[in-house]
Amino acid sequence: MSPGRVVVFTGPSGVGKGTLLRSLLPKYPDVHLSISATTRSPRPGEVDGVHYYFKSRELFQSLIAADELLEWAEFAGNWYGTPRLPVLEQVKAGKLVVLEIELEGARQVRQTFPEAFQIFVLPPSLEVLEARIRGRGQDSEEAIARRLARAQIELAAADEFDLQIVNGRLAEALQELESALFAAV
Ligand code: ADP
Ligand code: 5GP
Repeated sequence: MSPGRVVVFTGPSGVGKGTLLRSLLPKYPDVHLSISATTRSPRPGEVDGVHYYFKSRELFQSLIAADELLEWAEFAGNWYGTPRLPVLEQVKAGKLVVLEIELEGARQVRQTFPEAFQIFVLPPSLEVLEARIRGRGQDSEEAIARRLARAQIELAAADEFDLQIVNGRLAEALQELESALFAAV
């Protein structure tokens, strides 16, 4: 894949999107991982401006009103969105820009960047997905239930995407992702 492109990286919460990107991207400093805005509270260890821009609902609404978000969606009771300007700047600078976002956002990006490469990450099974969400140990029972309900909707849309990767064995999924993104660079 040539640089200066947008890559959308989607898959149910807990499937391992963050794990895959954190393992792969340090090898590729030229890739820009978009930092989203969210109304969700920080999890332990999450840093404002590094993992997310943590915003109040009022501030998030003002970003929408000012048309500063490329896409946004409600997920499990919170709002998430991609700041538009950094994406446009990094694409202009020839970077590969990765958006780690949920399904509704991915569908919106299909309208703005129809040429974006869209990847969907699947769990080996719903049982494994639930075990991973629980194993992460950072979501309440209510949040887990919401994430699992949403996962079934997202999984049904997997074939809308250009590529599906099953994150069973991490090393294998990483290899698939790496060749999809960088084989031609
Ligand atoms: P997401 O970013 O998609 O919400 P995370 O990257 O936070 O998911 O992963 C959720 C949990 O699953 C984490 O505890 C992570 O260590 C674990 N995990 C991720 N990928 C794998 C894998 N291939 N095998 C086993 N556990 C995994
Ligand atoms: P989490 O709360 O687990 O960090 O994220 C919940 C979901 O929101 C994940 O599926 C994640 O990919 C998605 N997400 C994170 N940032 C954005 C964003 O900017 N836009 C959209 N649409 N989804 C996002």
